[in-house]
Amino acid sequence: MQEITNDQQHLIVDRLGRRFRNLRLSLTAACNYACTYCVPDGKRLQAAAYELSGEEIVRATRLLIATAGIDKVRITGGEPLLSPKFPATLQGIMDLGLTDVSLTTNGQLLPRYAQNIIDSGMKRINVSLDTLDREHFRAIARSGDLNTVLHGIELMQAGGLKVKINMVPMHHVNDDQILPLLDYALERGIELRFIELMNMGHLQASPAYQREFFSMESILERIASRYSFSRTDAPFDSTAVRYEIPQKGTFGVIANESEPFCRNCTRLRLSSNGALYGCLSNARSSDIRSLLALPDEQAQAELHQVLLGALADKQSENFQGEVTVMKFIGG
Ligand code: SAM
Repeated sequence: MQEITNDQQHLIVDRLGRRFRNLRLSLTAACNYACTYCVPDGKRLQAAAYELSGEEIVRATRLLIATAGIDKVRITGGEPLLSPKFPATLQGIMDLGLTDVSLTTNGQLLPRYAQNIIDSGMKRINVSLDTLDREHFRAIARSGDLNTVLHGIELMQAGGLKVKINMVPMHHVNDDQILPLLDYALERGIELRFIELMNMGHLQASPAYQREFFSMESILERIASRYSFSRTDAPFDSTAVRYEIPQKGTFGVIANESEPFCRNCTRLRLSSNGALYGCLSNARSSDIRSLLALPDEQAQAELHQVLLGALADKQSENFQGEVTVMKFIGG
């Protein structure tokens, strides 16, 4: 672990040259879906009383910009649009002058918040969508309505936002949707990103993970049955491997298993109840709620110590998986 100086900031860098640049903020652990691969059953709502307030989340972000050198923020959850603090927190984060602010949502409440998002000046958004089949949609998400999500995507594009869709392909669950979703995305200038199923939460103790895992190789094989494509450049700390289909568009694969990206991971996560995580594959976290009440200088000094520990938590090679559920730590 060493420190580098950058614009008067002392940033922590580990022996692999990694530092924190991307912050994922979970606004809430609550979700209006209960996706089969994310939660074992039913809805798991966390009492909002334990959540950080919108003001605390914005303050934590401001402190992390100063202490860790964060320049990109993704607002996520749980389902971020489900939280009543979403509009005010979004604006607070947008006002911090970051290079990039984006949002990951299941899209169910996009029609309600489309204007807030467009007016905030956000430039891009990721919508999670695992199938275009209405029945299957409800079987996987165990809630929600497909057409509402599709309408939400249209509203975002009409408002000038760049849209990416995240799909988790699973064997015998929705692998038949790889090509329909890709066609849908290509026709609309949307980048589809296939996420390899991660061995998290209840999947760790379930045969479903081995049964349903659908590898990058299988995804590419399926796409090759219809399209020719070639690998293109992606930013060094990008989690996605990107491909171009000439004259059609691009797609990506987030290959946690097949091509792990731990070596250049720059992500830091703040959960909705104030726990800071340095690694998605490590359940260790630090509660930063109490330091948010301290004066700036003291808060930054304490945060610096927390960040040293969080950076040391990163894996050096492969994604190991964890019992932590994605929706609690911020997917
Ligand atoms: N509710 C928002 C949404 O649906 O986009 C944000 C949170 S959700 C946890 C973020 C992403 O994590 C979704 O795209 C979801 O499909 C993905 N996800 C959840 N559990 C996963 C797992 N075990 N493996 C891969 N992706 C997972």
